[in-house]
Amino acid sequence: TFKAWVIDRVADGQRLAFRDFDEADLMDGDVTVRITHSTLNYKDGLALTGRAPIVRRFPMIPGIDFAGIVETSQHPDYAPGQPVLLTGWGVGETHLGAYAEKARVPGDWLVPLPEGLSPEHAMAIGTAGFTAMLALMALEHHGLRPEAGPAVVTGASGGVGSIAVALLARAGWHVVAATGRPGEAAYLRGLGAAEILDRTELSGSAKPLAKERWAAGIDAVGSTTLANLLAMTRADGAIAACGLAQGMDLPASVAPSILRGVSLLGINSVTTPIAKRRAAWARLARDLDAGPLAAMTTRVGLAEVGNLAEAILAGEIRGRVVVEMA
Ligand code: NAP
Repeated sequence: TFKAWVIDRVADGQRLAFRDFDEADLMDGDVTVRITHSTLNYKDGLALTGRAPIVRRFPMIPGIDFAGIVETSQHPDYAPGQPVLLTGWGVGETHLGAYAEKARVPGDWLVPLPEGLSPEHAMAIGTAGFTAMLALMALEHHGLRPEAGPAVVTGASGGVGSIAVALLARAGWHVVAATGRPGEAAYLRGLGAAEILDRTELSGSAKPLAKERWAAGIDAVGSTTLANLLAMTRADGAIAACGLAQGMDLPASVAPSILRGVSLLGINSVTTPIAKRRAAWARLARDLDAGPLAAMTTRVGLAEVGNLAEAILAGEIRGRVVVEMA
């Protein structure tokens, strides 16, 4: 057996417990990994609390991403002792997940730990940082460069937001960080933000078009905030949408698209093909400096992570939380 957080189905919903889990009950997969680190993401908060139907199989070990060392492998690309990471693919949703000392998964879901990244660094980045990189790559693929104008980041003090601020600043963008936490202004400037914007300026209902303020954006919030971002985007700019911390709705008009050529770029980190994963992780290893990453990371033990679910859903977690197994 090994220690794990386990979600069981009960009559009135789900029940979460930190308990022993039998290795024989792990699901099919050709690689078994000794997990050394995981993280806390917004989706983990939803799964742990049952606030949204994230968990699709019971019992479930929650936790959507991990880094660790291969223990046994029948997969040609992976050998015992090799450091690996995993994000997405339904781990912690339909396949037993990361808040445990062990996982068994299809090797095709894994990414070899990129050169220069420790397992702890990889999980300080985690799904949130991987998603922020996919968003930056989508903006660049669209043809946007820092010369086009400022880039806005919403939910800036959160996990995706903090890494998005650091990555955009490092790539040369003038970053406008939108946050509901004015007390984190110094933190955000330390990550590279050039301007701080009070998020209430973006949270009211959106006009079809508003004054043009930025050429690009990474949005972790959705709802009226995303509608306002689009209405405030310069001609031929784009917003990469990856989150729904405010809401899943999008009360927007087509005006920015058809009158200014503004694009909405969708970001889904769960089923990203493996070649793109490797490219994104290689770039994260190269471009995310240790200083900003350390500034945004706090550490907790496995036994504590189950108690942080409400805090992340309430928007009270700053930056990234790394979960240590040992
Ligand atoms: P997080 O650390 O909780 O960050 C979310 C941030 O959003 C908060 O820190 C807060 O930032 C802001 N926020 C929270 N509630 C809000 C509200 N009601 N109105 C406006 N802003 C609010 O979560 P995360 O792990 O970074 O994830 C962020 C979002 O991205 C989540 O919705 C998550 O599900 C999504 N996501 C999607 C993908 C994908 O593949 N598409 C991958 C990863 C994450 P401030 O305090 O600075 O305002």
